[in-house]
Amino acid sequence: MCKSCEVLYINGVKCHETGCPEAWKDEKHECAWCGQDFEPEFDGQKCCSESCNNAYNGYPEPDDEEDQE
Ligand SMILES: [Zn+2]
Ligand SMILES: [Zn+2]
Repeated sequence: MCKSCEVLYINGVKCHETGCPEAWKDEKHECAWCGQDFEPEFDGQKCCSESCNNAYNGYPEPDDEEDQE
């Protein structure tokens, strides 16, 4: 349960109060780059993966390092 607000159930779906600082944890976000739904690991995460984040931000692909995927 959420420590920061009163969690509400609307039609069986868990909803945080508006403005709850922890609401993002339970929300699926759409990757800004590939459009895939993902659960963010930190607040403000825009992309599902680091490679999407790099592409979205225009960072060059690391080519000297091993691909960790
Ligand atoms: Zn909450
Ligand atoms: Zn993505």
